[in-house]
Amino acid sequence: GQARIGLIGLGTMGAALASNIAEKGFEVAVFNRTTQVTREFVADAGDLAARMVPTETLEALVAAIAPPRAIILMVPAGQPVDDQIAALRPLLDADDLIIDCGNANFHETDRRVAEATGPFLGVGVSGGEEGARHGPAIMGGGDPAHWARVEDIMLAIAAHHGDEPCAALVGPEGAGHFVKMVHNGIEYADMQMIAEVYGILREGHGMGYDAIADVFARWDEGPLKSYLIEISSAVARARDVATGEPLLSQIIDAAGQKGTGRWTAIESQHLMTPIPAIEAAVVARNVSSRREERARGEAMFGAAPERFDTLDHDTLERALIAGKILCYAQGFVMIAATCEAHGWDIDLPQVARLWREGCIIRSTMLDDMAAALEAHPGENLMRTPFFANLLKENHGALRRVVAEAALHGHPTPALSSGLAYFDAMRTARGTAALIQGQRDFFGLHGFEHVNGLFHQHGPWARQTATPKHEPKT
Ligand code: NDP
Repeated sequence: GQARIGLIGLGTMGAALASNIAEKGFEVAVFNRTTQVTREFVADAGDLAARMVPTETLEALVAAIAPPRAIILMVPAGQPVDDQIAALRPLLDADDLIIDCGNANFHETDRRVAEATGPFLGVGVSGGEEGARHGPAIMGGGDPAHWARVEDIMLAIAAHHGDEPCAALVGPEGAGHFVKMVHNGIEYADMQMIAEVYGILREGHGMGYDAIADVFARWDEGPLKSYLIEISSAVARARDVATGEPLLSQIIDAAGQKGTGRWTAIESQHLMTPIPAIEAAVVARNVSSRREERARGEAMFGAAPERFDTLDHDTLERALIAGKILCYAQGFVMIAATCEAHGWDIDLPQVARLWREGCIIRSTMLDDMAAALEAHPGENLMRTPFFANLLKENHGALRRVVAEAALHGHPTPALSSGLAYFDAMRTARGTAALIQGQRDFFGLHGFEHVNGLFHQHGPWARQTATPKHEPKT
């Protein structure tokens, strides 16, 4: 065997990754379930084909790789990964390394690491096809000794910020897939907040698509500069190939999803760490898919979003800045909470640095986030001085946008949730005393008293409730 590494699954991502690996000077052996795909891929690879070894059986793939081997899986997450591992492992030597680069659920990666009979890495790859081809962000999970064997390849194929590669081992077991999952959760919220502002510009201000594209393009030169704002402008400006109409007037308004946002929301509930902006974005996609119901609702209650022009573009930009900070703050707190629960030690500033290039949520703000998290370890991003100042300057705009949107029937679930989080997180005396009182009233759950005593009860305990330990007669 001559190839430095193998790759299974020449779909959208696998083909792009294999080309990227070959382009960076590493010989790569490739295999695909459907052989024709392998043949066509290598036939179309041009100069890069010189560093590709097409193989048509798993045995041939294994034979083509120099031991100790490393093989990347780029097949759909879930059962196909387990099936592929089961088919591959018997053909491998004990120290051969399998690397799952798909969007695995990190709990499954934890399980695969525990069950593995040989070296295994779970690696999150972000940036879509373009990223995989020319430089993705790469979030590795597993044993440092296993990562070290392929680190040169991972660093070479990754996106770069200056000369810093956006690839690293972030932690053991499923930590890489976990960080990729939170990345996607943040991505959902970032996209949703932009879409909410798009709705205000379109329905509230009655703006045309080109004018909206101009607004986004202008914001892409300020603090919001990011890939998502940039492509929002491009999408708003695009024309439909078939009709010549603005593309956004031709795309059905039902958002798809492949589950990573949902996983993030579910995981946050298990951890009891609040990420309401991300959860709201997942809910918003679920609501978007209920088109028929929304149409019936409009017929019954009248269309909600009214024209209004009480918000200027500067206020909308500031609201997005505040919303974005709050959504990222929630994501980083969730990573910290997971570290505690799993005994992981993920370096938050390093994660922020990894996300600066290559991935979908890349933005200039992540540079400042990395610096803030570095300077204030363990602190919620919203309370680090730089971002606290930005929030002080901009939460008023977020409040105005949420309030005006509500008054005029524009749904802004992610922006509203971000604001509610901000307000709750700066309210020293909340309202949960009533919740505790209610819980004690109906269930004798007890509460903590301001005098420091625990398991106290209200006056109803002796009079109206039967103590739980008394046998019923
Ligand atoms: P595609 O559907 O384009 O490709 C899937 C590949 O897996 C094909 O080569 C297919 O082979 C092969 N395959 C499918 N089922 C099996 C199976 N049961 N056993 C063996 N091989 C199988 O998927 P993508 O490239 O888009 O995605 C691959 C992974 O990367 C997924 O986990 C995805 O979530 C993740 N990902 C995708 C991103 C994207 O933007 N598309 C971004 C980041 C991660 P065949 O030709 O025989 O059908």
